[in-house]
Amino acid sequence: MTDRVIYATIPGLDVRLLSSVTTDLVAEACARHHTTPAASAALGRTLTGTGLLAMTQKEHERTTVQFVCDGPIGGIVAVADARGDVRGYVRNPTANAEPVLGKLNVAGVVGRGTMHVGRELGAEIGQGREPYNGIVEITSGEIGLDFAYYLTVSEQIPSGVSLGVFVHIATNRVLAAGGFIIQLMPGTSRDVEEDLTARVAAAPHATEMILQGASPLEMLETALGHLEIEVLDERDLQFACNCSRERFLDKLASLPRADLEEMVADGTGEVLTCHVCTQSYTVTIDDLRALLPDERVH
Ligand code: ZN
Repeated sequence: MTDRVIYATIPGLDVRLLSSVTTDLVAEACARHHTTPAASAALGRTLTGTGLLAMTQKEHERTTVQFVCDGPIGGIVAVADARGDVRGYVRNPTANAEPVLGKLNVAGVVGRGTMHVGRELGAEIGQGREPYNGIVEITSGEIGLDFAYYLTVSEQIPSGVSLGVFVHIATNRVLAAGGFIIQLMPGTSRDVEEDLTARVAAAPHATEMILQGASPLEMLETALGHLEIEVLDERDLQFACNCSRERFLDKLASLPRADLEEMVADGTGEVLTCHVCTQSYTVTIDDLRALLPDERVH
C-alpha cells in the first residue's frame, strides 16, 4: 500500500481528524540512516507526526519539527511539506536504551529537552530563516504524547495523538508505521470530548491496525468506533529530500576563495554527503575550478 495521509471530520461535530500510513517512507529513512530499532521508532514517529501536521498546510508551506534533547539520540529533525514530501534524521542513529517491559524504549533514547515546531511560509524558504512558532518542554519523550502536548498547549487545540512504528527486531526492518491525530476545535462540547477520548483510549494501537492492512480512513473508523467520517482532503506521502548537486555546488561557491583554491590544489575533488538523506555527490577538480570567480572573467 502507498503511504497516504487524510484530513477528515465527523459531520456535525467540530473535530479535525488526521490519519496516515507511513510504512514505506519510515522504512526508507531508517534504512538510509542505519538506525537501531529504538532510534527507528523515535525517527519514524517524528516523521509521521510531522507529515500529519503538514496536512493542514497550504501549498508552498512546510512544517519542521525538532527534538533538541539530552538522551543518547542527541536530537531529531523532521521536515514535511504540503506536497507530501517528508524527510528527516537523528543525530546519533546508533542510540539505544534498555527495553521497558519488552517494548522499545523511545523515551529512553530521547531523554529531556525541548520540542520545536516551525510552520514556514513558502516565501521564507531558502532565506536561511528559522521561524519557530512553538517551543514546548519534552514532557514524555515517547513522541506521540509530546505532539499532543505541543498541539494542546502551544496551538491551543486539545488533541489526542497516536504515533507508532513496528520494527521486526531480528532483521531490524520497519514493518509498519503510521498514526492519527484527533483535534477538538473550539465549540466541541464536553460530552463529545469525553465520548471521543474514551473511544480512542479503547482503540487498538495504530501499528496493530496497519499490520492488518488498514488504510488511514479505516484506522479512524476503528479508533472512533465507526462513526460517520467525511474525508476532506488526501494525498500521497513519500520520503523525499530537497538536496541536489546544484545546491551543493551553490554552497561551495559561497565559500571564501582561499578555501576553494585549497580544494583545487588538494587535487582529489570532494565527495559531499547530505546529512538529511545520506545521498552523496561527487565534485570534481573541474567543478571546483569552475566555481573560482576569476576563471570566468576576461
Ligand atoms: Zn538530501
